[in-house]
Amino acid sequence: MEFSSKLLENAVQEMSQLPGIGKRTALRLVLHLLKQPEERVEMLSNALLQLKRDVNFCQKCHNISDTEICEICASPKRDETLVCVVEDIRDVMAIENTSQYNGLYHVLGGKISPMEGVGPQDLNIPSLVQRVKNGSVKELIFALSSTMEGDTTNFYIYRQLEGLEVTTSTIARGISVGDELEYADEVTLGRSILNRVPFESSIKAD
Ligand SMILES: [Zn+2]
Repeated sequence: MEFSSKLLENAVQEMSQLPGIGKRTALRLVLHLLKQPEERVEMLSNALLQLKRDVNFCQKCHNISDTEICEICASPKRDETLVCVVEDIRDVMAIENTSQYNGLYHVLGGKISPMEGVGPQDLNIPSLVQRVKNGSVKELIFALSSTMEGDTTNFYIYRQLEGLEVTTSTIARGISVGDELEYADEVTLGRSILNRVPFESSIKAD
């Protein structure tokens, strides 16, 4: 792509670093922003900068939060004996949207993926094991996407919990294999949490 301006080229280059944004889309977005009043562009830049500089992660569940402990963890209405293990905060948002779940979460920050160089030590797994050891958690619900990486991660965590007093379950596989959790519709997702099955039986079924 040939550019008539170095400034334009730089902006397109930066925009195209975003996931799913190719050079053409980047150019369209940049030209769109160029047509906006300066204040609009400033608001966008400031919102992103402020997010990056000031963002907090809940010390308990690692959800993005403006406070040290997120609203979900802090709520007395939530069932703290139940912890749903998810890959990232998009999953928390998807499950919250179903209004079918009243427990807490634990955001791993990814899945174990040897292909992408992500090992257990790169994820929020030790803090999850610690939460279980602390004693208030009675059931962990694995809600990772049903990919090989998701299954590997579930199994790794399951092994880490051996000997601890906790029940493990997995969301019912109404969601077809390979579907990312975030794309499941709310009804299906809500139902799959309510109809969760013991994790042991999901291993034997494979
Ligand atoms: Zn939290």
